[in-house]
Amino acid sequence: MIRIGQGFDIHRLEGGDGITLGGLWIPCGHRVLAHSDGDVVLHALMDAMLGSLALGDIGHFFPDTDPQYKGADSADLIRYVVKKCLNQGYSLSNLDLTILCERPKIGPVREAMRRCVADVLELPLDRVSIKASTMEKIGSIGREDSIAVMASCLMRAH
Ligand code: MG
Repeated sequence: MIRIGQGFDIHRLEGGDGITLGGLWIPCGHRVLAHSDGDVVLHALMDAMLGSLALGDIGHFFPDTDPQYKGADSADLIRYVVKKCLNQGYSLSNLDLTILCERPKIGPVREAMRRCVADVLELPLDRVSIKASTMEKIGSIGREDSIAVMASCLMRAH
């Protein structure tokens, strides 16, 4: 049995000294406005995983109105989701992410981010794909006012 899921997340950006993507701290001129650590990569991926098993979404499990998730480490949250999926009899087979942003440039940090995501999920590196696209200066992402991520994943029954 295999199950497929997709997820999406977007957050506002403001001036700052760096952002966390896929558990990797990337120094840059932005910070993410968020209740948790604002890791849009892990947020979109969590939604893909939850979606694949029709378990709901990240807002259901970790409401941003709940003070216990203020500044939450998304790596901890996604480990909880992995466990939840394991309890349902499924584990991640592979995942594919697309990051939409103008800055930071993803190319130079892509491999480090893949390793980070693979480590958090305890997956072999060749099961983790991270791609990136700019928005050609279009819209809020193009103005560097936001950053978005699309995620797909495949889950396999074990
Ligand atoms: Mg989010």
